[in-house]
Amino acid sequence: MKKYADTLETVIARKQITTAYRRNLLEIRPLTREAVFEHLDTGEREVMRYDMLHVTPPMGPPAFLRESPLADADGWADVDKHTLQHKRYPNVFALGDCSNLPTSKTGAAIRKQAPVAVQNLLALMRGAPLAARYDGYTSCPLVTGYNKLVLAEYDYTLTPRETFPFDQAKERWSMYVLKKDLLPVMYWNGMLKGRM
Ligand SMILES: Cc1cc2nc3c(=O)[nH]c(=O)nc-3n(C[C@H](O)[C@H](O)[C@H](O)COP(=O)(O)OP(=O)(O)OC[C@H]3O[C@@H](n4cnc5c(N)ncnc54)[C@H](O)[C@@H]3O)c2cc1C
Repeated sequence: MKKYADTLETVIARKQITTAYRRNLLEIRPLTREAVFEHLDTGEREVMRYDMLHVTPPMGPPAFLRESPLADADGWADVDKHTLQHKRYPNVFALGDCSNLPTSKTGAAIRKQAPVAVQNLLALMRGAPLAARYDGYTSCPLVTGYNKLVLAEYDYTLTPRETFPFDQAKERWSMYVLKKDLLPVMYWNGMLKGRM
């Protein structure tokens, strides 16, 4: 999303970070401290020297789901993006990271998906139409410093869905405090207990 990307570009420039997108890590050579990448567009191999390497594995569905009839071609639970009902098994609903909902997989998204799944499941059991709809809302708290954070919030249409009455694309101490001190309280006492 341009709105948040513009801010992150300034962070990248400020921290003098060299970015190299669309690379797939193929090999690590610890003795020579080299990482070998493949460029996803050109297929070219590239060797980069590193002092410290932080690797995150690609995200994927668990095998029991990927190998089940519930999965789509990529292995995620194949659900309608608004009702969360499975496209082939109407008595199945999915939400969260296991689903193929085309939005960023976050706990914040699940907070909005859960009530939709519950309402539609109950409606189905009553024989009523599935009226509740999920609009793709998700949120990414992007920590940009020791006391700064950009709270990105958006929906399926990549329209900002910001909670606060100020520009959330700006790096803010207040959003950092929200993430560090307030969201854990909301998470443990609200979301996990089903209160919000
Ligand atoms: C580093 C990191 C930072 C994040 N930061 C944020 C953030 O700041 N804000 C935010 O909103 N979201 C954040 N997220 C995303 C958020 O954590 C996930 O979207 C969320 O936890 C997904 O919840 P889930 O219940 O769908 O799946 P999961 O939390 O993955 O739960 C699935 C559960 O199923 C269990 N399971 C797997 N296989 C089986 C099996 N065969 N039988 C029984 N159980 C099984 C697993 O052990 C797991 O407990 C972050 C994620 C990561 C990794």
